[in-house]
Amino acid sequence: MHSSVAPAGQAFARLRSLWQRWFLWLLLAMLVLVLLATVVWLAGRHEAEQMQVVLDHDTADALSELRGGLQRNAQSLNALLTETANAKRWPEMEATSQLRAHREWLRLEWRDAQLRLLAATDTPYRMRLFEQDARGAMQSDIALACTAASKLSAPAYSPSHYVSNSAGNGLEVLEICLPSEAGGYLVATYSLRDTLTELVGPTLRRGQEVIFSEPDGTRLASVGVARRTGNRVFTSQQLLDLPGVTLMFRVDGWRSEPDLFPNLLTALVTAVSIALVSVLVLLARDTRRRLKAERELADTLAFRKAMEDSVITGLRARDLQGRITYVNPAFCAMVGFTPEELIGTVEAPYWPTELAHEYQQRQDMRIGGSVPPRNGFESVYMRKDGARFPVLIFEAPLINAQGLQTGWMSAFVDLSEQRRIEEISRASQERLQASARLATVGEMASLLSHELTQPLAAIASYATGSLNLLGGQTDGASAELSMAMRRIGEQAERAGQVIRSVHDFVRRRDRTREPVAPQVLLDAVMPLVRLQAQKLGVRIDIVLEPALPQVLCDRTLVEQVLLNLTRNAMQAMDQPTITERVLLLRVASVPGRADPAPEARRWLEFAVADIGSGIDDAVARRLFTPFFTTRTDGMGLGLSLCRTVVEQHGGALLFEPNRPRGTVFRFTLPAIVIAPFELPAPALAADA
Ligand code: ADP
Repeated sequence: MHSSVAPAGQAFARLRSLWQRWFLWLLLAMLVLVLLATVVWLAGRHEAEQMQVVLDHDTADALSELRGGLQRNAQSLNALLTETANAKRWPEMEATSQLRAHREWLRLEWRDAQLRLLAATDTPYRMRLFEQDARGAMQSDIALACTAASKLSAPAYSPSHYVSNSAGNGLEVLEICLPSEAGGYLVATYSLRDTLTELVGPTLRRGQEVIFSEPDGTRLASVGVARRTGNRVFTSQQLLDLPGVTLMFRVDGWRSEPDLFPNLLTALVTAVSIALVSVLVLLARDTRRRLKAERELADTLAFRKAMEDSVITGLRARDLQGRITYVNPAFCAMVGFTPEELIGTVEAPYWPTELAHEYQQRQDMRIGGSVPPRNGFESVYMRKDGARFPVLIFEAPLINAQGLQTGWMSAFVDLSEQRRIEEISRASQERLQASARLATVGEMASLLSHELTQPLAAIASYATGSLNLLGGQTDGASAELSMAMRRIGEQAERAGQVIRSVHDFVRRRDRTREPVAPQVLLDAVMPLVRLQAQKLGVRIDIVLEPALPQVLCDRTLVEQVLLNLTRNAMQAMDQPTITERVLLLRVASVPGRADPAPEARRWLEFAVADIGSGIDDAVARRLFTPFFTTRTDGMGLGLSLCRTVVEQHGGALLFEPNRPRGTVFRFTLPAIVIAPFELPAPALAADA
């Protein structure tokens, strides 16, 4: 459940972060675009305003130029009029030269007070526009201007009007009338178009058009480049207020619209914008690269984490002050502490208390700069539960990306398992060696028994022969001698049996088991035991439970076991400090092990207790190991043979401390269960 939800949640989170990132980028790009568009638009507008300002300026300049020109012209005309009035004659020559100088004039007329034409001169630059006296239609315009002029006693202008000539071409003209004090007028006709050409033309810029129009917008005359379609037009107009007439003076300026970089400012802004967009693109690419690196780093980290978590080697890092900065899960599992309990500590909690001082010294040396052995060293650590365990430690300096040492990294291998295996293999090696020696001993025993059979048989037959020689004599010395001979024969016989038993034991032949009463077993060994007891000053106590059943056993071997145990017990008490030396032999029946059935086998337990030196732990651990002995003259085979014999009978040989001191050895043998109504079988040759 959890595992299926987690990936979905992760995917959703990744999608969201991806969307957020893209959204931000999109927003940024849009903002930059809007900003750029605004800046370009503003730059364009600024430029247009700039142009308008320049045009307005130019218009004002042109207009004042025009006014000045008209003013100067009026003065020239006034001079001509004065000359004419003084001479009372039309100065033809002067008029012609004036007309040559002023191309804007079409004609100069001298009229009397009633406005009758006295004389006239036409411009030499054009074909005559007016018939000699055919100014009937225009008479009213002249009259208007001259009336105004005489009223003002200053030059006055007529409204503009159109004059067509015989060829069908026409001109827009304007009359100026100057009154003379002697009565009479000088009338000059301006061509509007030429006025613009002559008076405004020189100040005109390329790409500008100057226009005279009526205040209502009717176009009268224009000069300059005609307006081209598709160009952006700027217009500036001002009124030209002259006495008698008002004209609209307009200047049109234009520039080509589709220029991408209309001026420096726009070009600059555009360049900056391009730079900005490039930076954005670079930034985006950098971010993408960074993201990729981030992803790769995350992958590497995850890989490293998986690796650290999976290794079984413990890892631990310390900084230069000796503080633990990192531990991996394997290390935590090894020592049984959590990372929180370990990180930040200097004196680690896994140092065994008795060795902490030594470890601290080692760490101080490491901080001091001593280099640890390359092939590692062994140490002992403590688990959280207090158990010590051996570890193999490899240490190496921790170097950071700048090549500086920041601490120490250590790897740990838990050696407990290795030690255990080593111990097992050593033990089995020892067992193998012991078995090999045991086999040799077996061979030797077999050889000895074979070699000893002959002399023993000889001893027995000499004893029998001696007995026969003594005959039935019953007097003191002979009786004792024949008794000794009988004993010699018995012991030789016994020795032969022991040898045969050992031979059988070594050869692992099936041994004959027979039912024997415990008392009989004890009686058989007692003479030898007593012999040694007398030598060592040991008192022997025998405790036999009444009505004990017989045991089923290989008699000779069991007697040997009893002999061994009693001998060991007495030797343990053979110390000057022990004054009261008591050997206790006890035979008792024990209930069948965990088997409640009445016919179940019962067991007899033989105990041999001493109050000797006791057995310490070190000896106890190896007690039954073949060839283990603490005695200089010992073989170390006694107890191991005893246990083998007892276990071959299905019993067990154990020992425990005796109270208040000494040791008790106990072994069990199977008993023959006799049903109450049954008589004991006379002799039962049985086998396990
Ligand atoms: P050996 O008698 O040749 O030394 P054993 O196998 O009989 O070999 O005994 C092994 C060791 O066990 C003895 O050397 C002795 O140290 C110890 N041992 C045996 N029995 C006793 C005992 N009753 N009290 C103290 N130590 C004993």
